[in-house]
Amino acid sequence: MNLGSVEAVFFEYLQERGLRQTPERLCILRRVYAMNGPFTADTLLDDLRNSQNPLSRATVYNTLELLLECRLVAHHQFGRFGSYYEKSHGRRQADHLLCTNCGRIQEFCDPRLHAIMQDAGQALGQRIQHHQLHLHGVCHLFESTGQCPHFESSKADPSSSSQPMH
Ligand SMILES: [Zn+2]
Repeated sequence: MNLGSVEAVFFEYLQERGLRQTPERLCILRRVYAMNGPFTADTLLDDLRNSQNPLSRATVYNTLELLLECRLVAHHQFGRFGSYYEKSHGRRQADHLLCTNCGRIQEFCDPRLHAIMQDAGQALGQRIQHHQLHLHGVCHLFESTGQCPHFESSKADPSSSSQPMH
């Protein structure tokens, strides 16, 4: 991942929109690209509040909207676990598997899905541009022990994105 090219995309977008390149916007962009896997706006906000230059909620939400518009960030709605964001520049699109008990989110990539979408698009006369696929399940351990391996860390805040990504 070349952060320079990400920043170039953002600056070009801001310029086209007549918006300023502020240090706050740049700080948020860099923090977003330091995140691993999907994260919530609140996680990002907390993360920034713990940094040397705390930023306002409005600035963080506003900048996330800009990053969505210029496609540097993707948005996922994970059912009751809420709204998640994820860096998207130069990344192969991943699909997500969500444990409905503990909220652990895992990514997977299967090239067979690409072929299925191409076939569906061709048959229905559309060029597929993007897709979202969320699989909902429960961790194997939940079925045998009644306890998810990540439940303790996630039950206080089901929207927390601090669960490990595999
Ligand atoms: Zn689980």
